[in-house]
Amino acid sequence: MMTIDRDFALTKEYDKKYCMQVFAPLEVAFRKGKGVYLYDTNGNKYMDMIGGIAVNTLGHNNKALTSTISKQAAELIHCSNYYYIPERSELAFRLCTLSFADKVFFSNSGAEANEGAIKLARGYFYHKGQPEKNEIITAKMSFHGRTMATIAATGQEKFRTPFMPVVPGFKYVEFNDFDAIVEAADDKTCAIMLELVQGESGVHPADEDYVKKVRKFCTDKGILLIIDEVQTGVGRTGRMFCYENYNITPDIMTLAKGLAGGVPIGATLCTNEVSKGFVVGDHGSTFGGNPLACAAGSCVLNQIAEKDIISNVNEVSSYLFSEIQALQDKYNSIVNVRGKGLLIGIEFREGISSAGMREQLFRKGMLVSAIGRSTIRIAPPLIITLGEAKKFVTALKDVLKAQKKNPLPTSSGSVADSTQPTMVMPIEAPDK
Ligand SMILES: *Cc1c(COP(=O)(O)O)cnc(C)c1O
Repeated sequence: MMTIDRDFALTKEYDKKYCMQVFAPLEVAFRKGKGVYLYDTNGNKYMDMIGGIAVNTLGHNNKALTSTISKQAAELIHCSNYYYIPERSELAFRLCTLSFADKVFFSNSGAEANEGAIKLARGYFYHKGQPEKNEIITAKMSFHGRTMATIAATGQEKFRTPFMPVVPGFKYVEFNDFDAIVEAADDKTCAIMLELVQGESGVHPADEDYVKKVRKFCTDKGILLIIDEVQTGVGRTGRMFCYENYNITPDIMTLAKGLAGGVPIGATLCTNEVSKGFVVGDHGSTFGGNPLACAAGSCVLNQIAEKDIISNVNEVSSYLFSEIQALQDKYNSIVNVRGKGLLIGIEFREGISSAGMREQLFRKGMLVSAIGRSTIRIAPPLIITLGEAKKFVTALKDVLKAQKKNPLPTSSGSVADSTQPTMVMPIEAPDK
């Protein structure tokens, strides 16, 4: 029997041959992880500064999480929503206790959580006898998922173009522009859907004043405010939920990525009033709310509280912001550092491509994501220590230093470049 798991060449060959080619991976495959570290098929060690894209909240191979999952798997992985599910009840209780919400619907991913939110907003007005209120305003450069309704919600044409016609009923307005919302809203508007930090398009936080005005506008006009916290939720931005940074509460919130620390899960949360948008039979899911994912979710929330992980997020975040800003002052290659908590975008000046920076950092054993032409994103596990964050700062500094001596070619990279595979191997020695 072939041992494909230890053989990178075979892994790659079979991927090219048998997997649909929608990703453009780096030249690496990982075998295992521990904390913020990942180990590739050759035993090389990397620091995971992207955490599976804001998913691995507790880091890799977290004891509490792996033991919760294995215990739960030994008891019950799945049953159906035809029955009551204790783990689902518990996670719903925890989420409602921690947030503005009164009710939760569980699904399996961010896109599904947002699909649920979109259906719920429309269902709410349908059941109120106002089915004509069915349009949703979203922001340009937003990202809400890859399903047909969520690509319609996403304010970036490139995600929709090949798949027209998409679900109708969406309008896009400039992000952080309150007047644009006022102008776009009318009697047909049922909801405004926003990320508070636009993650996929470059880590752009919403302005405080903007969010407050949008909240008030929604309340005044009887429009639902949907906040997509798929990336920002569950401690990521230094509060349990990002909306807390803005002193507002949404009517509907979606969660996914970090909620179960790596086990697939999605959640659509809302107030009691808005939950009238779904009656029996209106929505459902085979896997959503299964015991395994819900037990994992409760474990993550429990660990965040028990280990005071949110304080750690804030401590490491201020350290990273001040150190990266110091690098910005010293090296003119960085033009902007932005984000909240441990969701940070570092933008480089024209001529330095995000793909190039990702590659340089990869060579130093640092995993980051490249977004757009010139921004890299970091979203490490929330358990990252100051000492580990320091290693990242040192690596970034080394890259900037080397760049100063040996400037990269000035042809600016494109978004397409940023997804091209690179042929480099990490330099850090195997760690046994
Ligand atoms: C990742 C993401 C999604 C989509 O989540 P999937 O689990 O990939 O479907 C939706 N919204 C935001 C803000 C995201 O970051």
